[in-house]
Amino acid sequence: MREFDVIVAGGGPAGSLSALNLCGSGFRVALFEEHQSAGFPVQCAGLVSSDCLKVLERFVDTDRCLLNRIKGAYFFAPDGDCVRVEGKSKAAVVERKILDLELLKSASSVADVFVKEKILSVDKRNEKNSYVLKTNRQNCSSFYVVGADGVYSTVAKCLNFERPRILSAAQIECKFECMDEKYVELYFGRKYSNFLFCYAVPTGDGFARVGAVSGNNAVYWLNGLLREHPSVSRRVEETKTSELNCGAIPFGLIDFVKGNAVLIGDSAGMVKPYTGGGIYYTAVAAKCLGKHFPDLEAFKESYLKALEKEYAVGYRIARLYRVLSDEDYSYLIKLARGIEFEELHMDKPTSALKALPALLKLLKNPKLSLKIARCLF
Ligand SMILES: Cc1cc2nc3c(=O)[nH]c(=O)nc-3n(C[C@H](O)[C@H](O)[C@H](O)COP(=O)(O)OP(=O)(O)OC[C@H]3O[C@@H](n4cnc5c(N)ncnc54)[C@H](O)[C@@H]3O)c2cc1C
Repeated sequence: MREFDVIVAGGGPAGSLSALNLCGSGFRVALFEEHQSAGFPVQCAGLVSSDCLKVLERFVDTDRCLLNRIKGAYFFAPDGDCVRVEGKSKAAVVERKILDLELLKSASSVADVFVKEKILSVDKRNEKNSYVLKTNRQNCSSFYVVGADGVYSTVAKCLNFERPRILSAAQIECKFECMDEKYVELYFGRKYSNFLFCYAVPTGDGFARVGAVSGNNAVYWLNGLLREHPSVSRRVEETKTSELNCGAIPFGLIDFVKGNAVLIGDSAGMVKPYTGGGIYYTAVAAKCLGKHFPDLEAFKESYLKALEKEYAVGYRIARLYRVLSDEDYSYLIKLARGIEFEELHMDKPTSALKALPALLKLLKNPKLSLKIARCLF
């Protein structure tokens, strides 16, 4: 049986970034990816903040996967009215197939990478106090395990980790007349999602990734957006669709350290609860892991210290989406035109709280003020 110090399950961003950050720790790391390549099938709009892009640039040439640069967002009420917002953070749209492949290539320079090798089971410990992992090709053992094997993590199941709630996501890549190709579009309202929202992320050349994130059956909500939304339905050319992707997004960070095993990325629910974006929060975790390894409790503490407040506010914002009525959205979008959002940062929901006093001052609707205050505080 082959022995390693650390086995990383999964070669997506979480797995590759974990292996890359563990480089230099002096431990022998092996990474197992079930597919020939990572990032396939693609289940991502590819929107990342400039801060996230900078983190990725430490390991790969991000120009290779860059599709578009983004300056801000249009926020839409269900009636089609919208407001354009430019915050502090800029963003980029990346091609995940290429990003994941480049990250995995970099990881293979610091770790033993095994592709087309699926981890089938993880047993607690053998007599040497190591984990025993069975793949479709071999048995191996390691003292530490990193479960970066996505939302339906085998590592998490085998080691009895708590599981996050699963949201449904669906997206098409299609011809789309964007408001402006440098701005993403977010569509709110109960007609279009029963949990988060729908979106359009421009990839350039008149195309966009148009998708829905909901509590269940995202295809149903996406169809509603494409056919019934007063603004989207006139701008989308569904006949010119190149891809349809359906996927799952975890909701809720779980306790991600148990013995000498850790979960990173979607397996641990490391996504922004108010958007479903996971790459940045995962990159932060991989950096903390590399910094503190093998002290896994210190890793956990430093990750929570870095993002605990953001998660807390993020959950409250996600709850607000479900509490607001379609009329509330229309009212808020109108009010938002009078507010400066220059502090807004897409990875830091706490930055949204800075615009709140101005919003509450403008609100002449006590019922709505109370709804917002109850949700956010
Ligand atoms: C429709 C959609 C749109 C999204 N848009 C964005 C966005 O715009 N921006 C953003 O930041 N995030 C976005 N996300 C979330 C983002 O895609 C995830 O958070 C991110 O991919 C998580 O990375 P990961 O490495 O944890 O998991 P994954 O990317 O799922 O990678 C897990 C890897 O593990 C491998 N694996 C699984 N099981 C095993 C096993 N037993 N053995 C070996 N290998 C295994 C898989 O093949 C895979 O390569 C989106 C998600 C969806 C569904």
